[in-house]
Amino acid sequence: MTPQVYGYMLEHTREPEVLRQLREETAAVHGSHMQITPEQGALLGLLVELMGARRVVEVGVFTGYSSTAMAMALPADGKLVALDRDERPVAMAQRYWGLAGVAERVELRVGPAAESLKALLERDGPGSYDMAFIDADKRAYGTYYELLLQLVRPGGLIAIDNVLFYGKVADPPPGDKAAVALRDLNAKLLTDTRITVSMVPIGDGMTLCRRR
Ligand code: SAH
Ligand code: CA
Repeated sequence: MTPQVYGYMLEHTREPEVLRQLREETAAVHGSHMQITPEQGALLGLLVELMGARRVVEVGVFTGYSSTAMAMALPADGKLVALDRDERPVAMAQRYWGLAGVAERVELRVGPAAESLKALLERDGPGSYDMAFIDADKRAYGTYYELLLQLVRPGGLIAIDNVLFYGKVADPPPGDKAAVALRDLNAKLLTDTRITVSMVPIGDGMTLCRRR
């Protein structure tokens, strides 16, 4: 997509003021490129609505763009469990959950995400979530995916970010463990009969998996 066409698309993407502010404030934070794009935020919000989701889990919060976008799309009594191991960026996320009026819908768990997912399986049981978004440690995506396939109900959705990994999945540079991990996961998803799958070329690539 050319910069001109992408600019046009952004002009025709709805981004709530609170998310625009969050994006602006995040631009100064180290790692801001990890944040999802505005059109991805709109798609995630739409997917929450389409799924009629009431229980969502996010793996990888950072400064809160994707969690805020999804929480805003939930019904008032909906719940988003937000997982991250790093408290620093998450402090900004918490502030924006407040500004967006969704703080009551969000439960934060700080720690290694795989451990938190296991704890959620223990606490809430298999099939207890409608939707999940994976956007943390790329090398652990396979682990997150297997745990979420248990945690999400049949018919539930798992969205996976950065599946194109800046194009590196097509020809992983030697020693790039993250690129290799993503390439291996993409290959596995292609033939995984437990899901219906679509790799969507939005942002850095986002794969949508519906648990059968
Ligand atoms: N979804 C966010 C971006 C997430 S960036 C957004 O759109 O704004 C990736 C996040 O994953 C970082 O905040 C990092 O702290 C977190 N992360 C990385 N490895 C992790 C792990 N093993 N457990 C939990 N969180 C992890
Ligand atoms: Ca990402």
